[in-house]
Amino acid sequence: MTSAISVDRVCMEFGDPGQGVKALDDVSLEIRANEFFTLLGPSGCGKTTLLRLIAGFEQPSSGAIRLYGEPMQGLPPFRRPVNTVFQSYALFPHMTVAQNIAFGLEMRGLSRSDIEQTVQRMLELVKLPEVGKRRADQLSGGQQQRIALARALANKPKVLLLDESLSALDQKLRKEMQIELKRLQHETGITFIFVTHDQEEALTMSDRIAVMSKGRILQVGTPTEIYEAPLNRTVADFIGETNFLEGEALERGVLLPDGQLLSAFSPRRGAVTLAIRPERTCLDEQGNLTGEIENVVYVGTDTVYHLNIAGQSGFRVRQQNRNGALNAYSAGEKVRVLVPSEAIRVLVE
Ligand code: ATP
Repeated sequence: MTSAISVDRVCMEFGDPGQGVKALDDVSLEIRANEFFTLLGPSGCGKTTLLRLIAGFEQPSSGAIRLYGEPMQGLPPFRRPVNTVFQSYALFPHMTVAQNIAFGLEMRGLSRSDIEQTVQRMLELVKLPEVGKRRADQLSGGQQQRIALARALANKPKVLLLDESLSALDQKLRKEMQIELKRLQHETGITFIFVTHDQEEALTMSDRIAVMSKGRILQVGTPTEIYEAPLNRTVADFIGETNFLEGEALERGVLLPDGQLLSAFSPRRGAVTLAIRPERTCLDEQGNLTGEIENVVYVGTDTVYHLNIAGQSGFRVRQQNRNGALNAYSAGEKVRVLVPSEAIRVLVE
């Protein structure tokens, strides 16, 4: 598959060399053409910085970025086959919607009739065919967001960068726009790079995700790979809910501090951390782990049992309330938990 964007050992330091903020620390990444790719990580991890480097608003302190094989060093943003949609949509408020979308096309010197056709096509693409004559500041937030997208797509970029561009919308609109964005990406075949700190958003929309922390990329993979096979504790903790248990990997399984032995595959011996998703476990008399209930939390669809296992507090077991909440267990009770061995991940980093 063609590589749309190649980021090769990029570092970005703000301030004096050696003493400034290291926003990106030796980041390498390949993003494929036609991919919906997401940069995911907590605030301050360097997502926006990476996006700005790809767009050309900043130059890296070291390393190289190539777009479709072309080195981008020194090229200003307008010379790159890239468009960016920011969190604040930055439409020109007093212009009409059509004028907003036409802006970039006029700069490129397209004919009046080409411009009109493109504007109408873009309005249809974002499902707002009727609003061309309205002033931009007379639209709702969600509509403005769509117009900002239409404006970016009108320029036919090879790559579209989206920086937290749904975070200003309310929850319902946001869900709608997630589906919309995915559709637009599919229909236009443009490579999308989407930045978010919202793991659910990343899992729902992306072909692949890069999980970032403190200026580094911790893992790149499909949503399933990232969720089911997190490489390390930070990724497991950031994506979804995870229980961690400390133990010692032996030949015959993982030994917990209280002497319980759990059958699990570990690629190495010695001290290890086990990662177990709460929804993959259940309370069961035939279970392979013993613990004590600390707390029972009813959350509508599910009940979450907080357990102490092998002296480690806060182990969550999440069970669906298929037949209504039975509340068969209460705090202080000793229980058995069923943890299938395929649900246990031994973290290796
Ligand atoms: P958020 O989700 O909050 O936008 P982010 O993951 O996008 O965060 P960046 O904005 O890329 O993170 O910032 C990464 C680090 O670089 C932060 O510590 C930030 O304070 C620092 N930083 C970013 N831009 C500059 C700048 N122009 N000058 C100095 N430091 C900066």
